[in-house]
Amino acid sequence: MPQESIVLETPTGSKNVLLHSCCAPCSGDVMERMADAGIKFTIYFYNPNIHPQKEYMIRKEENVRFAEKLGIPFVDADYDVMNWFERVKGLEWEPERGERCRVCFDMRFERTALYAHEHGFDTFTSCLGISRWKNMEQINDCGLRAAARYPDLHYWTFNWRKGGGSSRMIEIAKRERFYQQEYCGCAYSFRDSNKWREQNGRDRIKIGVQYYGDD
Ligand code: SF4
Repeated sequence: MPQESIVLETPTGSKNVLLHSCCAPCSGDVMERMADAGIKFTIYFYNPNIHPQKEYMIRKEENVRFAEKLGIPFVDADYDVMNWFERVKGLEWEPERGERCRVCFDMRFERTALYAHEHGFDTFTSCLGISRWKNMEQINDCGLRAAARYPDLHYWTFNWRKGGGSSRMIEIAKRERFYQQEYCGCAYSFRDSNKWREQNGRDRIKIGVQYYGDD
């Protein structure tokens, strides 16, 4: 069980939260913390950015596996990758944390906010910001913008890295032997990560091979 010293409370006192999740490693500690705090929540998996589909399926199935273990409801949203490519057109060469990522977060959060609005959730949040590779301010801006579309919906800007979240994320991933993705998720991050690897004398990314705790 996590060693949490911060009292976990939603901004509205809501005990029914929709948690946008991108993968099992990023959501593992967030899920355990919310469960331990007695917050009722549902996982919303909407990540049409993840490419190729084999990688998408592995990330989703890992998240389903952990949700089932904790007894957490899991909503599997559509894999509408062509809409994602359409939305980021012209931003193919943006660096990570740039404008393409803002559009990517906006797209995922807009759908999450819509689902929350239509299904009686007054609060949603995301585990995306727990990764040190992400710009938390950018993620929070996108979450707040999506929530602002509905009068009674709130985006919970909790910093999941705090209270040991960053290190527990890795501990849980190793304990559960989660699949270890080696790039953010989209075709462009796959391309750029492989380019970096080539420049640094490393092998190209192999999809479906690496699991936490293997090395
Ligand atoms: S690098 Fe990650 S956050 Fe940015 S556009 Fe690609 S998948 Fe989305």
